[in-house]
Amino acid sequence: MATGFFWDEKCFWHAGGNYAYTLPLGGHVQPLAAGGLPENPETKRRLKNLMDVTGLSSDLDMRSAAMASREDLLRVHPEGYLDEFKRLSDAGGGELGRRTPFAAGGYEIAALSAGLAVAAVDAVMTGALDNAYALSRPPGHHCLPDFPNGFCLLANIAIAIEHAQSKGMAQRVAVLDWDVHHGNGTEAIYYDRDDVLTISLHQEGNYPLDTGAIADRGRGAGEGFNINLPLPAGAGHTAYLHAMDTIVLPRIAAFQPDIIIVACGFDASAIDPLARMLATADTFRQMTLRIKQIAEENCGGRLVLVHEGGYSEVYVPFCGHATLEALSGSKITAPDPLGPALDVRQPGPRFDAFLKGEIDYLAQQL
Ligand SMILES: [Zn+2]
Repeated sequence: MATGFFWDEKCFWHAGGNYAYTLPLGGHVQPLAAGGLPENPETKRRLKNLMDVTGLSSDLDMRSAAMASREDLLRVHPEGYLDEFKRLSDAGGGELGRRTPFAAGGYEIAALSAGLAVAAVDAVMTGALDNAYALSRPPGHHCLPDFPNGFCLLANIAIAIEHAQSKGMAQRVAVLDWDVHHGNGTEAIYYDRDDVLTISLHQEGNYPLDTGAIADRGRGAGEGFNINLPLPAGAGHTAYLHAMDTIVLPRIAAFQPDIIIVACGFDASAIDPLARMLATADTFRQMTLRIKQIAEENCGGRLVLVHEGGYSEVYVPFCGHATLEALSGSKITAPDPLGPALDVRQPGPRFDAFLKGEIDYLAQQL
């Protein structure tokens, strides 16, 4: 069994602009001593570092990849957007859209980030790997074809899907987005289509504020092929697994995809600064085991996880390590140092019962 791990140090060199957290500098907002946006390189690099320290890296097929080609990018993004992005990047950096600053060379780094996802899907579809993880940075699930937002500059997963479809490697693709924010970019790109099932589990009323409603189910041929599951703030381990078991997994199985792609954010964790959920490393482990089983039962095990958000420098590495243990079946572990403290801070039985009721209510709306 071979699990690929696609990463590149250059992706950690993507650099943002003049922010203190999500606030633009100026007025009463003092610059931070270190870092700017919460989407900083250490939230990703420290996962790779932990894997090296524990030895998990040696159990995986560690790879880089080429930048996504211009042809690959053009299947999702209009020429005018790519040209403007490239021009600003060559001129020293800048910002397009909302909260998406980049430095000189940001265009090439974003194309490399997308290239990691393309290569991961390619390798799994051709059978070179059983499954794979792409540590893409910058992330992609918020990016619209011509409007980058939420730290996302190119739609990594959509670029990988279009590549696979254009090469005849896959027809039907299921995308499960468990990043805590709504996968508005992926939704928008596939809203009218029935060949790509998009499911987003996210915190209700977080980001973006104007998308992610249960009523947004797709349009035309795509009606019924977009599923939004907005969960109340405070949802934890039990609620996430209930949503997976009662809605997400049966829907994916019924869709009969050729491959499953997970938009894998770790910002539903209990100590993430950009959300208010209570997932733990074990939650991500259990979700990965479940989606892996569904992949094995329905599409030959073909499964690719593409990294999205997750802003706790301390905890993302442990959530990611647990995820990769589950994905690869490796016995090399990194015990969760926060697990016991977070387990006793999970929702109590009454709130969990309420959350399950909310999830069951959502299921009735689909
Ligand atoms: Zn997120």
